[in-house]
Amino acid sequence: MANVIAGPVLILLLALSGLVVEMRFLSDHHNLLKQQQVLAHSAAELNIALKTQSQLWLDYLLYQPLEEKSWQRFRKQERATLALANKLLVQVEQDRLQSDVRSIIYALEILRITYQEKRSSLLQDSANFSENNSTLGNIDTVPSALIKDLYQKIHMHANETSNALRQQALVMSGLFALLLIAASLAYSRWSTRHTQRFLDRQEKSHRRVQWLLQHDYLTRLLTRTQLIQETDVKIRGHQPLYAFHFSLSNVKNAAQSQGHSVQDQLIRIAAQRLLTQKRPQDILARSIGEEFILIAEDDDSLALRRYARTLLSKIEQDFSVAGFRYQIHCSLGISHYPEHADNSSELLRCADIAAVHARSQRLQAPCLYSAVMSERIRQKIELVSDLKTAISKGEITVLFQPQVDIKHRQIVGIEALARLTTNNTALNYPDVFIPLAEETGLIHSLSKAVCRQAIAHFENWWKLGNDITLAINVSPKQLETSDFVDFLQELCHCHQVPSHKIDIELTESSYIDSHYPQLNRLRELGFRLSIDDFGTGYSNLGYLTHFVPQQLKIDKSFIDSITHSDRKHALVESIVGLAKSQSIEVVAEGIETEIQAHILKRMGVEIGQGYLFSRPVDALSLQAQLKKPQPSLQQSV
Ligand code: C2E
Ligand code: CA
Ligand code: CA
Repeated sequence: MANVIAGPVLILLLALSGLVVEMRFLSDHHNLLKQQQVLAHSAAELNIALKTQSQLWLDYLLYQPLEEKSWQRFRKQERATLALANKLLVQVEQDRLQSDVRSIIYALEILRITYQEKRSSLLQDSANFSENNSTLGNIDTVPSALIKDLYQKIHMHANETSNALRQQALVMSGLFALLLIAASLAYSRWSTRHTQRFLDRQEKSHRRVQWLLQHDYLTRLLTRTQLIQETDVKIRGHQPLYAFHFSLSNVKNAAQSQGHSVQDQLIRIAAQRLLTQKRPQDILARSIGEEFILIAEDDDSLALRRYARTLLSKIEQDFSVAGFRYQIHCSLGISHYPEHADNSSELLRCADIAAVHARSQRLQAPCLYSAVMSERIRQKIELVSDLKTAISKGEITVLFQPQVDIKHRQIVGIEALARLTTNNTALNYPDVFIPLAEETGLIHSLSKAVCRQAIAHFENWWKLGNDITLAINVSPKQLETSDFVDFLQELCHCHQVPSHKIDIELTESSYIDSHYPQLNRLRELGFRLSIDDFGTGYSNLGYLTHFVPQQLKIDKSFIDSITHSDRKHALVESIVGLAKSQSIEVVAEGIETEIQAHILKRMGVEIGQGYLFSRPVDALSLQAQLKKPQPSLQQSV
């Protein structure tokens, strides 16, 4: 800012200085003229005085030569003339005209002496006086000529000085004009350079903003919007294209256990892998979250399939961040222009749908879009909408399935199982609506409704003297925050139900080790932890070293084949052995036959659950079973 002001200020100062010089010239010139006027006036005065003096001399000579009075008058004039000459001398002091004035004074002195002498001679020889008159009449010619000469010189000198002043002023003005021009030029050059620099900086920041708008801050890949724009250009040129939609899973779970910076790093690594593998002509962008899009120009379809498989296998390689290894699965959906869509947004939507399909089918290979997938998605959207409505309307009920002491056929516990009473029959099955609720986050409100109903009924049965446990199914999503644990604690407190009678059933999965903090809290509050579907989920039993549950529920798939598969038989035996060694209670799920119950009892399994004992029933039916034990429950194996 200071620099910007300095230039014009300098120019203004120069212009002002020039003006001052010009004013000075005008003032000097004025003084000169004034001085010249004064001198000319004094010279004229002197001339008149000389003329008067001459006239008085003549008068004296012609008419009163002997009159003393007349002589005195003349003498007075003579002194006045000399005084004027001396005054002139003072005025021209410091001037080169001084010597001329001195010459005049000198001539006047001589004239005075001459007058004296003439008078003396006249007084001595008055007879000859008139004869000499003619020769005495113009004796003032010398000073007169000198005065005239001086007068001219005064004018000349004034002219010369004026010219000199004018020239000087011209030179100074020229100098200042030159300085002004130079300053203006310098300023304009500086300001041009300054403006250029400013424009350059502006251009640079504009380019930076543009870049930021077009790129994702985390991966530095293009944004989805930018990719769409670039794809539009290719589509306008009728260039056949493939859209690849990569969707990573498990990234969020890694972030839950290790923090968000790990999530960011995993995404960055995946982006880098795609970037190094992609062909130069293809466009790569980060879509949202853990999703990437690649627009590949149509090529030989075989080569493209190979390309897609390579990208998928590269992106799925083991991820290693901060000393930890992560296994990230990637679903790849592919769509084609013009086969599946006629614009870029539609093309991306189709690839997205294909990726969703690949994920839901747990496909390990790229999945090409088909119209059927869209229909499934549409149905799913409808289903989610109905599920939301059902939950908000409270169309939820709870069934209870007894857990039975296999030997004595007595109910030792019950499992609460959710049901929806909505008209949409597709939502009658927990296997359908529970995953959907988990996927959409509706599981939180659904599960709370189930818990409220289940614990309210349990309170009654408990107060009636039934010493049983209540098993509640809990999804991993519900343990992501402390909210659910707080809710459960509050609910048990309100209904005065002891927490050590509540089994929290968690499906065996890789999520278990991400939720140690909430699991530990549940245990501290007295709740029992049970691993559901044991043997189906997580191949790594390492979590058992971190936390030991109170109960394992052997999955129905093992029980189903326990009678005819030696391998399954041996597996169940070893699970029971493992559980006993850790003092973990075992529950066998899905017992449908007496023979299964028999085998399990022999293996040492004490508690069973299955259609053999009871299907899931409503609260009223269960109450009847609790009060009046069913014959099948009394029957001993
Ligand atoms: P699960 O926790 O393994 O529940 C046992 C499932 O096996 C129940 O199915 C039950 O009806 C069924 N079952 C029990 N005995 C037999 C049998 O002898 N034969 C056969 N064929 N099936 C038997 P359901 O009620 O359809 O529940 C399915 C799954 O939905 C449950 O499996 C559980 O994982 C989930 N679920 C149900 N209610 C809830 C809930 O409130 N919250 C959560 N997070 N999940 C729930
Ligand atoms: Ca269960
Ligand atoms: Ca189960």
